[in-house]
Amino acid sequence: MKDKTVCVCPPHVSHEGFASLATPTYRASTIAFPNAAAFANRMDRGPDGYIYGLHGTPTSRTLEAAISALEGAAHTMLQPSGQASISVVFLALLKPGDTVLIPDCAYPPVSSLCNGYLADRGIAHRVYDPLIGGDIAGLIDDSVKLIWVESPGSATMEVQDLPAIAKAAHDRGVLVGMDNTWASPLHFKPLAYGADIVVEALTKYFSGHSDLLMGSVSVTDEGVYKQLKSTMSMLGIGVSPDDCSLVLRGMETMAVRLKHGSDVALNFATRMSKIIDPALILHPALPTFPQHGMWQRDFAGASALFSIMIPADMAGELDGLIDQAKTFSIGASWGGTHSLMVPMAIGTMRKFDGNAPSGIILRLSIGMEDPDDLWTDLAPILDAIAHHQPA
Ligand SMILES: *Cc1c(COP(=O)(O)O)cnc(C)c1O
Repeated sequence: MKDKTVCVCPPHVSHEGFASLATPTYRASTIAFPNAAAFANRMDRGPDGYIYGLHGTPTSRTLEAAISALEGAAHTMLQPSGQASISVVFLALLKPGDTVLIPDCAYPPVSSLCNGYLADRGIAHRVYDPLIGGDIAGLIDDSVKLIWVESPGSATMEVQDLPAIAKAAHDRGVLVGMDNTWASPLHFKPLAYGADIVVEALTKYFSGHSDLLMGSVSVTDEGVYKQLKSTMSMLGIGVSPDDCSLVLRGMETMAVRLKHGSDVALNFATRMSKIIDPALILHPALPTFPQHGMWQRDFAGASALFSIMIPADMAGELDGLIDQAKTFSIGASWGGTHSLMVPMAIGTMRKFDGNAPSGIILRLSIGMEDPDDLWTDLAPILDAIAHHQPA
């Protein structure tokens, strides 16, 4: 071979004996075929075959297989963010004239997708009370094609009765999708409790280091799988193998990170309940939490994310208190090694009281720092809440 060709096509080296414990990062746009006929018949390789880099490489397939195993799913698909995972589900399964039911406590961009994009394209949505349980049957008419569940709910932690909702949905032939980001499949397996589709924001615990975005959709039904997969292909949605390799690395420590964070979070919530009114602490594993019984029935563990409801007339004071924190960072997202606190004014976004009628939330994500340093940041906030006199 001449020099210029060697530059493009390096000599083959043996992989013999190379048994790394890490999943190799296989990058590709082009997948080369052995001959013209194989290329012409490439679709015969099916939705799991290697055809084009967009649709997956062995690195992304390994991550998909690991997530399927954790979820008890037949298939998993990866998207460039958790929000993209949710929108792929909605775009693939809903047509003009259809309706999706979304819980009041859904991750806020879900409602933006419905209001700001789907509505203009003839796809309706109705917001339901996350505590509705089996009574959701009364909201299902012939236009309803999908019920979305997020449990516990974003910021306010409403634990939804997935088995009851799934039964009502399936009686009418309606699909149920659930955002399981809070618990991760280590602590809850929605497909075993009646969901047809489960979404995880891998941005959170799976990757675990606040340095990438990714989401997954896992399903059992072959027809739903093909519909989702072909929608992704038409929309040109795929993920980087480098990011997949980082998620695979993060997953290796996910169980210990989640255990540490959830242990510290529950310890903090319990200590808080002796300083401030326990009704203000929105943590499903606290016995005083309104849906504690349902959480205990369904979940194998908690998360490191929980909230404190702040009296409405303390909103201004809260910002000043948060600014004093030295170890917690202030910012969106969660599930990483750095602890985060974020004030959220949810009042204007909600139709139902749910767990937080005051409308002001301080959401905490517990990371891997020393708990004593974190508590030092929290103590003055708790003290201010404990001594707050309603105006
Ligand atoms: C963060 C989050 C998402 C979205 O994930 P991104 O990867 O940030 O798009 C979806 N659902 C829940 C419950 C989340 O907390």
